[in-house]
Parts: sequence; structure tokens; C-alpha cells
Amino acid sequence: MANPEAFTTASEQETFAVGQTLAASLAPGTFVLLHGDLGAGKTAFVRGMAAGFGANPEDVSSPTFVLIQHYRGRVPLVHVDLYRLETGAAVDDLGLEEMAGGGVVAIEWAERLPRPLEGSVTVKIDDLGNDSRLISIER
Ligand code: ADP
Ligand code: MG
Repeated sequence: MANPEAFTTASEQETFAVGQTLAASLAPGTFVLLHGDLGAGKTAFVRGMAAGFGANPEDVSSPTFVLIQHYRGRVPLVHVDLYRLETGAAVDDLGLEEMAGGGVVAIEWAERLPRPLEGSVTVKIDDLGNDSRLISIER
């Protein structure tokens, strides 16, 4: 696999911008697998992706009980958060493979996937302290 691209951001807005830029380069059918601790900025990154696709970024949130959300833009974006899923079996029931269709699927807590997904880009966000984040993107 190619060397990851790396970005250091100093604010939520900068992380949003990296997500927005990535979105512009993604083909329909791509899975974006997001890794990073709670508060790393995964949802902020997905908010930027939504903006990149022309959807309303304000619709992107991490509500407590919603696992899957759809945002309508030029490219449909499916936003999945696996944080509350305990087992790989439960992930299987979601039918993620079928979810992309003509759009892009962004998955938070992708480490909970039971197996790799075809056609994916991996985004890792590390909290470097304060508002600094290291974002690496591997495709
Ligand atoms: P996650 O989805 O990974 O749990 P969120 O995107 O919901 O994280 O939250 C990230 C939090 O960190 C927000 O409160 C945001 O304002 C803050 N933050 C501070 N600096 C950054 C940064 N450089 N990038 C992203 N978020 C940041
Ligand atoms: Mg989140």
C-alpha cells in the first residue's frame, strides 16, 4: 500500500477542511474507515466530507442511539458509528457491503469491523494534545 498522506491540524475547522478535500477525490462505492479515540475528531472529519459532497454539514452529529445516518448531497453519504456495537456478528447484520451503492460510506470506530471492506480508504486521527491532531490517510 502507498505511503499514507499525513496532515497536522490545529483546529476542528482544519480537520473539517481535510475531510472536505478528501471527499472531492473519492469515487462512489468507497468506504472511509475512521480510526481514533473518543474526541479525536472523526465526526468533525465526516462533517467536512458531507460539506465536500454538497450536503448540509450541520446534519452530521453523533446522536446517542442512531447508528446509521444518510446525508443527501451530489454524492450520497452514509455515516455509520460502530461505537455502541459490541460484536462483529452485530456488524454483519448491518449489511455494510451493500450500503455504498452510488455513494460513499464513512465508518467511525472501524476497528470494530469483523473483516476488511473492499474499496476502502483508512483515516487515522491521533490527538497530539490541545487542539492538535495528526490525520493520516491511506488508500
Ligand atoms: P470523535 O467523533 O472522534 O469522537 P468529534 O469530532 O465528535 O470526535 O469531536 C472532536 C472534538 O475535539 C470536538 O469537540 C472538537 O471541537 C475538538 N477539536 C479540537 N481540536 C480539533 C482538531 N484539530 N480537529 C478536530 N477536532 C478538534
Ligand atoms: Mg464521533
